Amino acid sequence: MSTPTEFLPFALPDTGEEEIAEVTAAIRSGWVTTGPRTKRFEEEFAGYLGDPSLHCMAINSATAGLHLALEALGIGPGDEVITTTHTFTASAEVVRYLGADVVLVDVDPVTLCIDVRQIELAITPRTKAIVPVHYAGLAADMPALLALARKHDLRVVEDAAHALPTTSNGQLIGTLQSDATVFSFYANKTMTTGEGGMVVTRDPEIAARIRTMRLHGINRDAFDRFRSKTPAWYYEVVAPGFKYNLTDIAAAIGLAQLAKLPGFLKRRQQLAMRYREGLAGLPLVLPADAQAGDIHAWHLYVIRLEPSAKLTRDELIQAVSDRGIGTSVHYIPLHRQPYWRDRYDLRPEMFPCSESAYQSMLSIPLFTAMSDMDQGRVINALHEILA
Ligand SMILES: *Cc1c(COP(=O)(O)O)cnc(C)c1O
Repeated sequence: MSTPTEFLPFALPDTGEEEIAEVTAAIRSGWVTTGPRTKRFEEEFAGYLGDPSLHCMAINSATAGLHLALEALGIGPGDEVITTTHTFTASAEVVRYLGADVVLVDVDPVTLCIDVRQIELAITPRTKAIVPVHYAGLAADMPALLALARKHDLRVVEDAAHALPTTSNGQLIGTLQSDATVFSFYANKTMTTGEGGMVVTRDPEIAARIRTMRLHGINRDAFDRFRSKTPAWYYEVVAPGFKYNLTDIAAAIGLAQLAKLPGFLKRRQQLAMRYREGLAGLPLVLPADAQAGDIHAWHLYVIRLEPSAKLTRDELIQAVSDRGIGTSVHYIPLHRQPYWRDRYDLRPEMFPCSESAYQSMLSIPLFTAMSDMDQGRVINALHEILA
């Protein structure tokens, strides 16, 4: 909780004695890299998703997980992968790691998730996969997207960095019929391991490839070598893999955070509801809710200024900051970033929905460790500035 004069950041992790105890136990155990805690974290994550048949693979970032998932699907030079322009660069950069090309498309103006009709228009004979992002914690239109992917025989890797937990038609993201789903445990996500992520798939072949490639292309991990009857020194390198494994120290944080996730969700839902009530009547477009019965993870609370507002978005950010409150912008769209803009010759008018959202949007503080009083400060500040 911040006092009225203290700076209220836009996001903070919510960790406590449970995380400290679990990390301490990991260090005392003498096993600090990938081992028993990582394995338990993977099992408990599958348990959280409610489907023990899912393969869950812990990795050291969601970016690594997206890279591994697309690699396992055989994406390579000459292929095209379609994703949203309204995302963090990680969703797209992994495609370039593999030498394939990124095709950016616009978003739905209400949800700011990838627009499935725009995906259909962007499909070419080279298209191999789609990477939807469940923006801010709201599911993309997965029934339509998965139907389109089936129709055109395209693979789907969900960037679920914001979507723990999110549902689509009552089904948790991570349990849908996509090829793989990737969650992030970066510091400001709905749960954290400091840095980390989880790839989830139903496909045993994709899972086997990811397990091998996350650790140097070696077909046994260190813990397996330590435990099993085959001599510990023996291993085989079957591919030029990566160094993407999660440590047991990070998994220890994850175990404690996962146990708190149901409570975290309740708090985020409460905060979102209170913003909806507290900001009503101001010249703001408030974020779209999930369909009735569905879960919005509320990773972000993104508000947009109405054109009728008496100041610009940049002026609003400054005025909120002057009152000691942190905000952010999610995102400067990829088509505005020099690398993506220049590589694919992109112009703002090609993405009208993402553009108009970008120019009017800001993300206001929403994190489980903030108090009702902290949130009251944000609501009051917006009333003072905008009323
Ligand atoms: C945070 C984020 C990522 C990257 O996650 P890391 O765990 O930091 O690699 C990818 N995509 C989106 C949409 C994100 O917000």
